[in-house]
Amino acid sequence: MSDYEVLDPRFRSMVLPNAPLEKLAEGFRWLEGPVWFADMQCLLFSDIPNDRIMRWTASGGVSVFRQPSRFANGHTRDREGRLVGCLHGGRAIVRTELDGDVTLLADRFEGKRLNSPNDVVVKSDGTIWFSDPPYGIQTDYEGGKDESELPANVYRFDAHDGSLKVVIGDIAGPNGLCFSPDEKRLYVSDTGVQFEPHSKCCIRVYDVADDGNSLRNGRDFHATATGHADGVRCDQDGNAWAAVGDGVHCIAPDGTLLGRIKVPCTVSNLCFGDRHRSRLFLCASQALYAIWINRRGAQRP
Ligand code: MG
Repeated sequence: MSDYEVLDPRFRSMVLPNAPLEKLAEGFRWLEGPVWFADMQCLLFSDIPNDRIMRWTASGGVSVFRQPSRFANGHTRDREGRLVGCLHGGRAIVRTELDGDVTLLADRFEGKRLNSPNDVVVKSDGTIWFSDPPYGIQTDYEGGKDESELPANVYRFDAHDGSLKVVIGDIAGPNGLCFSPDEKRLYVSDTGVQFEPHSKCCIRVYDVADDGNSLRNGRDFHATATGHADGVRCDQDGNAWAAVGDGVHCIAPDGTLLGRIKVPCTVSNLCFGDRHRSRLFLCASQALYAIWINRRGAQRP
């Protein structure tokens, strides 16, 4: 049996009381960046301090997908199904082509090196949005100590013309990103205060402007004192499922915390996958977990 906390009656119909929280694999150092490939029925995820991307399948378990990975962190897929990833080591956003070649997309803004891109999402128009906090250059453990040349921004990259522009510059530690299913909103986790004890960490939400290229009306969406929030993914109905210190929080679009899935260790990131995208995969510290729920992930993660 799984350990749920129902805070709103709506949450009861979203979870499956008889579905266990399953530990799929363990023995990693620190996991982030899960992405589901439905066409190959596999999950890719980053084991950052071990400098590798792992691959999981139901039939074959875990294997190494890429090592060294240049300390890869967040992942997503673009409209053509290609893997798009963040590199702490390369301080860059890269795309893995269908033939396996890796293409550098962006590693500088106005001539200065990016910090350490952390999480990435692709909008339906093909533009790539990513966060760039300094966490990968603050230690050697998750990349390599190095000087920061830019503030911690969120960027929008247009692969068609190579342009890069700042879309958020007012968050101390932009981290996990997720568009709402209608792409009218962007959720952004702020871990800028994560190392200060007893501080509230939060998820911010911004409205996507009518031009589709910029953000406005940034405001707090979800605050928690139980740990830092990082990865966010929306279900088909627009509820946000967020990786927070004590597990997974499910938050309605109006900001109501509906319930929690408790996980025995810190969850950094999550994604929907497997049959009908109704299984949550959790990158949880040194282990990979999964749990079936009664909601399907949004078509575009
Ligand atoms: Mg992150």
